[in-house]
Amino acid sequence: MEHPRHSYWHETSHKKNDSTANKSEINNKEFDILIIGAGLTGLNTAYLLKDSNNKIGIIEGSKIGFGTTGYTTAKITIQHDLIYDYLINSFSLEEAKQYLKANEEGINLIKKIVSDNNIECDFKEQTAYVYTTDINEIDQLKKELHAYEKLNINGFYTNEVPLPINVEGAIGIKGQYQFNPLKYLYSLLNIIKDSKCELYEEVRALNIERNQEDNKNYEYVIKTDCGNIYANKIIVSSHYPFDNDFGLFFLRLYQEKSYIIAATTEREAFEGMFININDPIRSMKYHFSNSGPVLLLAGGNHKVGAKDNEEDSYKELEQFLKQNFKNYQIINKWSTQDCMTYDHIPYIGKYSNNIEDIYVATGFKKWGMSHSAAAALIISNRILGKEDDYSEVFNPSRITPLQSAKEFASSVGNIVTGFAKRVMPIYDQIFDVKMGEGKIVDYNGKKVGVYKDEKGDYFCINPICRHLKCAVTFNEAEKTWDCQCHGSRYDIKGNILEGPTVLPLEKIKIKK
Ligand SMILES: Cc1cc2nc3c(=O)[nH]c(=O)nc-3n(C[C@H](O)[C@H](O)[C@H](O)COP(=O)(O)OP(=O)(O)OC[C@H]3O[C@@H](n4cnc5c(N)ncnc54)[C@H](O)[C@@H]3O)c2cc1C
Repeated sequence: MEHPRHSYWHETSHKKNDSTANKSEINNKEFDILIIGAGLTGLNTAYLLKDSNNKIGIIEGSKIGFGTTGYTTAKITIQHDLIYDYLINSFSLEEAKQYLKANEEGINLIKKIVSDNNIECDFKEQTAYVYTTDINEIDQLKKELHAYEKLNINGFYTNEVPLPINVEGAIGIKGQYQFNPLKYLYSLLNIIKDSKCELYEEVRALNIERNQEDNKNYEYVIKTDCGNIYANKIIVSSHYPFDNDFGLFFLRLYQEKSYIIAATTEREAFEGMFININDPIRSMKYHFSNSGPVLLLAGGNHKVGAKDNEEDSYKELEQFLKQNFKNYQIINKWSTQDCMTYDHIPYIGKYSNNIEDIYVATGFKKWGMSHSAAAALIISNRILGKEDDYSEVFNPSRITPLQSAKEFASSVGNIVTGFAKRVMPIYDQIFDVKMGEGKIVDYNGKKVGVYKDEKGDYFCINPICRHLKCAVTFNEAEKTWDCQCHGSRYDIKGNILEGPTVLPLEKIKIKK
């Protein structure tokens, strides 16, 4: 099936057809290690484990490259907005050092993989900047710079940056990188495939259970939509952890969405990767490849379910383009979402304290290039029995500071809204839905989600998300059904586009 959502990276990167095995062979497969999810986290981890004496299987619920990795802006940096002053003050200097070291090691790993394997992925050194256009925010930058000093980060302050907007101040870190994430991912895939790891696309894990079958010498059985898999160790690199039985991640994560426009501009391309520190977020950088520079402008961040009209976010970004870049040509635009934790530190390590040999990596809060590689190091070290001195801060079972409880409370509001939408009366009737529109309508006393395509055909679904039974609403901008609570997304026919759901929306038949 052709995937309905493409980013600039999909247009410029191509996967070899023979890089995966036939999914019809997955039933009853046995592995020492099963990796669930083949984004950057899954494949970086597979790369580090491929030469160990383990039989490794990787399953990907969709097509490889169509998770968040395929829609990112791809800055590879230790500069994650303003983070280090917060970490030192809310956690400790030691924990801030661990966070930093893990990400530095992650970046070194990507650099080494690219160079050892001569991967052509437009890998380029860059300076990363956080900036402000508001003079009242300069103090925040100065505090962060002070934290850099405590951590020996070689940062600098400047108010001269090559952006076409009026910047009051910025802090930069040299020696950061950018690349084409899908060229990198697809190259990793070829390397991993050659190493005898088995990789299956369109095999979705449904749940994980302890194996009770005496004739199978494996700890776990993983139920998938294509049959059962047996494994001793499992790495859940599915972006949002799909299993709700352990870890309670659905209570400890939320998803935040952003919008990206890729455009060529008449204005000369600038060097550097930029993001401002407060709303409205405007992240900007040029991607440099043999086909010429392309501007990636991102912004419009909001928690999933918190915005009614997604199209407005694109309009705001286009307005910004018009004002500041004058003549431009949009190549592509898309939205994507990442998992956020309430204390701003990802969860990397054991899935839950009560369970052995299942690992998770999630909550990268839009800094997943370095974090996915850090996660690969942390998890592969655990599995291979190697020590490291930077993983403790990411412990998924950690107790978090009080202030994250406040953010949790505000996010619960969104989830409640998602549930509330299930009991709201819906007044539209099916034949009120116009072409190209999606609506929840009353059909014979039942709520039905209806999309009417340009030919006048109706596609009808039950608008209750199969993850935890929140309401889905129609995203006009991208023609998808999106869950208000945990961010699962479905196409117009109800097929899964993004987890955590593992089941498609129920299809409803209507009589015309
Ligand atoms: C707008 C935006 C901009 C960003 N920009 C940057 C940036 O500049 N720099 C940076 O460092 N980070 C950035 N990020 C973050 C980064 O893109 C992500 O954190 C990272 O790509 C996540 O990689 P992943 O492998 O963990 O997840 P994914 O790439 O989503 O991979 C997970 C895979 O698991 C599969 N899967 C899901 N459920 C199942 C299941 N049940 N069974 C089998 N497979 C399953 C999915 O199909 C998917 O392919 C950005 C994020 C956003 C939203």
